[in-house]
Amino acid sequence: MDTPEIRYQCQRCGACCRWPGEVVLSDAEIRAMAAHLGQSEHAFIQTRTALRRTRSGLTLAQKADGSCTLLDGGDCIVHEAKPAQCRAFPNTWRFPGWRQLCEATPERATEPPAE
Ligand code: SF4
Repeated sequence: MDTPEIRYQCQRCGACCRWPGEVVLSDAEIRAMAAHLGQSEHAFIQTRTALRRTRSGLTLAQKADGSCTLLDGGDCIVHEAKPAQCRAFPNTWRFPGWRQLCEATPERATEPPAE
């Protein structure tokens, strides 16, 4: 008998947005976030991104405390247009100790999780 797949439903607590690390960005994701904020792509790249450590692309910039540049208080200001890497956490990737920080609630997966 198959074990039902568990999917985690984000509660938008913002903990993962405060976890230091790189968010790999595609050109399409940069376009979508810039449009969501009403900025040009150039302005978004200048103000909201940084060169990846590998120098092979762009990542979201971080504030001095390591939190994401797009986190305002407890809320992601591009939630509807956020990158795939952010959408995928914690269902397809996780960091060590994630469960102690993340408030996502486990549910049996019968349908794709709501955004
Ligand atoms: S830590 Fe978990 S519940 Fe909180 S915003 Fe990230 S995915 Fe959502």
